[in-house]
Amino acid sequence: MPAYWFTCPECGAHVAVDEGARDRLLSAGCAVCGVPVGPAAFTESNTFGTSA
Ligand SMILES: [Zn+2]
Repeated sequence: MPAYWFTCPECGAHVAVDEGARDRLLSAGCAVCGVPVGPAAFTESNTFGTSA
């Protein structure tokens, strides 16, 4: 499953999100402060949820 780190450029919120949550943030903005966010606020994570 694709996973991303979201870092809010406004309030600094830093959370791991899956693709669905990423889409919601892109359309609705930061869940904490409500600022609009773009793709640049996300970093792909290849290790989310793995124990390798
Ligand atoms: Zn925020």
